[in-house]
Amino acid sequence: MTTLPVALTLNAGSSSLKFSLFDISAAPAQMAIGLVENIGGQPRLKADLGDTLARVERELPPHEAADHIGALATVLDLLRAAFADAKASVVGHRVVHGGPLHAEPIVVTEPVLAELRRLSPFAPIHQPHNIAGIEAARAAFPDALQVACFDTAFHRHHPKANDVFALPREYYDRGIRRYGFHGLSYEYISGELKRIAPQIHAGRVVVAHLGNGASMCGILGGRSVASTMGFTALDGLPMGTRCGQVDPGVIFYMVQQEGRTIDEVRDIFYTKSGLLGLSGISNDMRVLEGAGVPEANEAIDYFVFRIRRELGGLAAALGGLDALVFCGGIGENSRKIRRRICDGLDWIGLELDHDRNDSNARVISTDFSRARIMVIPTNEEIVIARAAQRLLSARQDAAS
Ligand code: AMP
Repeated sequence: MTTLPVALTLNAGSSSLKFSLFDISAAPAQMAIGLVENIGGQPRLKADLGDTLARVERELPPHEAADHIGALATVLDLLRAAFADAKASVVGHRVVHGGPLHAEPIVVTEPVLAELRRLSPFAPIHQPHNIAGIEAARAAFPDALQVACFDTAFHRHHPKANDVFALPREYYDRGIRRYGFHGLSYEYISGELKRIAPQIHAGRVVVAHLGNGASMCGILGGRSVASTMGFTALDGLPMGTRCGQVDPGVIFYMVQQEGRTIDEVRDIFYTKSGLLGLSGISNDMRVLEGAGVPEANEAIDYFVFRIRRELGGLAAALGGLDALVFCGGIGENSRKIRRRICDGLDWIGLELDHDRNDSNARVISTDFSRARIMVIPTNEEIVIARAAQRLLSARQDAAS
């Protein structure tokens, strides 16, 4: 039996574990994708095992996915049964925070893991779960290379002015900086632009990653110049349950005048705000679009307003605009939101073609629009798989 070299990619969230399997005998080709959700509660497994195999969707006994280790074991059982001739020689992990230094993916060693643990306070909601995913994968594949791919890496070349807060200088050296996130998504979009529209890639592009998490990034010649997310993945646009930009004075008020603990405030900002908080109905844009009540419409109004405002700011940071690219669940699917964002933006060179927008075409601007408007489905998994393959072959070359 021949063994097919594969890369497993893992994206461990607070209560979910997303996975993909890639054949890496040539350019990475996706063989399977899926997730275990509601880890620690009533877990569910969903997977798509490629063309020839059935879709899997079932509830799991809670003890089977009580934590990330259990969830990974369930995923591996599924993958081993479906792809008996595949062997994971490398596991690529999405890691939210790489700190100020990591501008590239890196092989996980003991010192690297210790550094990632040290960075946990910078992303307390995400980083511990990413680390749990790495530990679970190391236990399951002791011989495989583990590769960490950072959401912050793409932004590490920001000019200093876009990297600082106007706090006393020493805080910058202590790591209190504008890191920016969603970097794997931006790297994918930038790579796709280079492939399909090189002249736009060489220019001034704003990418709007609009999903349950949402941010925007100004990219000049393929490099991130500014992003709406800052020190944590909380800043910038309102998201499903995260507030986005808020005057920090609100925190002092909640603590000092309302007597809330800092954990309560954090919980409000991360899990009770954004579209959910403003609407009081849902964090899900599809639900809000269908709700037809003023509270839902107000939440959508604010979402659109912030995006338009940030677009202006990012275009100014770039010195102009050659393209606006939409991605993420909302950006890729909601023609209504895209229409509302682009409405009346001809002053900045954007003219939406309504028919193209309604048919979810790749280019949705008119032929006369000065700047192009595009929809490009993002693919963070393949960015991780490519990095995993690259670092694996570098390791094999060094060993031979
Ligand atoms: P993501 O986090 O990228 O998976 O995006 C999730 C968000 O995309 C949720 O708010 C969904 O409601 C939204 N979404 C997905 N499909 C649609 C659609 N057809 N119309 C509007 N929003 C959508």
